[in-house]
Amino acid sequence: MSEAHDASRKDWDTYFMDIAYMVSTRSRCPRRHVGSVLVQGKKLLGTAYNGAPMGVQDCSEAGCMIAEEWETKLGDDGKEQMVKKQRCIRTIHAEQNLLLFTDRADREGSTVYVTDQPCWTCANMLANSGVKEIVFHRGYPKDSDKVSLLMSQKGIVFRSLTDYEPPPQASMKVTS
Ligand SMILES: [Zn+2]
Ligand SMILES: [Zn+2]
Repeated sequence: MSEAHDASRKDWDTYFMDIAYMVSTRSRCPRRHVGSVLVQGKKLLGTAYNGAPMGVQDCSEAGCMIAEEWETKLGDDGKEQMVKKQRCIRTIHAEQNLLLFTDRADREGSTVYVTDQPCWTCANMLANSGVKEIVFHRGYPKDSDKVSLLMSQKGIVFRSLTDYEPPPQASMKVTS
């Protein structure tokens, strides 16, 4: 009997993405809860979420540290327009914390599950980390084109779980 016959059993993608979402609930940034896990041969080797460095006040204590920047965005008329976006820069991103708290040897040929499509900086670091596959759920359109190109250049499998539903207790509205 293959495990595919048991409909009530979660497939591996759902299993690890569920864990990433549960990990994300540890985040104390009200703007975005991101979780990521490192998987090597179906074995969980690390978990991380976005947060301030250990021992430093986090967003729930000190408030978000907001940075504003201009971005280009495609308007309804199909023309590019400049929009001002706010970001919280207090936190170390989940993917970066994952790299800080795992060993290089454990990452070689591994898979990272992350609740959100990595930003450019995280993608750039992951591309140099030994990881061979990145699986995400929520999209991050701002950096999507250049991140996808980087992943194809590096030969890293980069895929989104389109039919996936996060555990209800772990999903939050994302402030964009
Ligand atoms: Zn914050
Ligand atoms: Zn990032």
